[in-house]
Amino acid sequence: MGENLEILQSVQSQYKEAASDLGLDPAVYEILKDVERLIEVSLPIKMDDGSTKVFKAYRSAHSSILGPSKGGVRFNENVNANEVKALSMMMTIKSALLSLPLGGGKGGLKVDPESLSDRELESLARAYVRAINNYLGSDIDVPAPDVNTNPKIMGYFIDEYIALNGGKVDFGTFTGKPISLGGSLGRSAATGYGLALSVKYAYEQRGESLEAKTFALQGFGNVGYFAAKYLCEFGAILVGLNARDKEAPSGSSAIYSTKGLDVEELQAIRENEGSALNYAKAEKITNEEFFALDVDILLPCALENAIDEKIAPSIKARVIGEGANGPTTDKAAELLEDKGVLIIPDILANSGGVLVSYYEWVQNRTGSYLTLEEVQEKQRDQMTRVFEEVFAIARDKNVNLRRASFMKALERLSDGLKYRGRF
Ligand code: GLU
Repeated sequence: MGENLEILQSVQSQYKEAASDLGLDPAVYEILKDVERLIEVSLPIKMDDGSTKVFKAYRSAHSSILGPSKGGVRFNENVNANEVKALSMMMTIKSALLSLPLGGGKGGLKVDPESLSDRELESLARAYVRAINNYLGSDIDVPAPDVNTNPKIMGYFIDEYIALNGGKVDFGTFTGKPISLGGSLGRSAATGYGLALSVKYAYEQRGESLEAKTFALQGFGNVGYFAAKYLCEFGAILVGLNARDKEAPSGSSAIYSTKGLDVEELQAIRENEGSALNYAKAEKITNEEFFALDVDILLPCALENAIDEKIAPSIKARVIGEGANGPTTDKAAELLEDKGVLIIPDILANSGGVLVSYYEWVQNRTGSYLTLEEVQEKQRDQMTRVFEEVFAIARDKNVNLRRASFMKALERLSDGLKYRGRF
């Protein structure tokens, strides 16, 4: 059993139903319903006060059928085995959907990173790489940033990895690295940029533009910040922000202003004062009020299960772009789709991150580097082609975008399994 069994079962049933819709050989689901490898380790860390604390950590490699397993590592108090397994299964779909020569993986450390000093965090990051070193490598498993991890952490990861492996500088073992360590321009912006592109595409499909469309954003991390920035560039207006900053003013979890919130000002306030919710030109509202805002678009960019069946009935937005992985529960999605809400699913909407990670991996392997303009143009073109295909499948087969994405990805996975002689 264990925690987060629901999210794992939900992803498994998406695999099962899409495979059955496609009439695939039963072996496809039999093989893909579980992960290829799950590593669970305990990492003892000497804390600054002289005590020793032990942290649980995981790395799940779901599939390497189409290439090395690929996916982020998160630092979060609620990390558990079922969560990383489910998220690694979603990564397999993202990579296959984008036709990348990569599989799916995900890792997590059960820790609240804000409770650690910089030195403790660095020790923990290095201990994680030491514990899973034998299963890392640019041809084996390639981690990247995820919730609460960033290029700085990737810098510790790659440094430890190089030290452990005879000084071999295999930069392609991690993506989302600092630019000076083989990182790609445009990687930090990639997930949010791709999310904004997906929302823009959805409106264009209806013959509408984003001009003056209002949106509410949950989560002001890397994904949320860049999604908001690009959506505003495309003409939309940010009117609500929900953020769980530690230093948020008490009693409020969100802010709202019909006049619009300025993304750069919010960012500056967060940097200077610890919470974007201190923005003076907005009204403070509760979590419930935030989800019930009368907006066109809602962007959940925080954690899974943010929108459940209790919240769903109050939602007025007509389009939901899933920046987070698994932010809408199955029951909530059903309620929303019954009301005619369009959900652009995580595996499609936030796949810009792994796409530019792939460009980073290729740049590391070839030693030839792209400009920011080249990265963003490639990302836009490649994602637009996938949007076109997925929206077409959804129309033709009369299924939602999640099912259409699974169907496209599973066709490729089934082919790979067949040619590798697995059935
Ligand atoms: N953590 C991101 C995701 O969930 C990116 C993974 C990657 O770049 O490998 O898609």
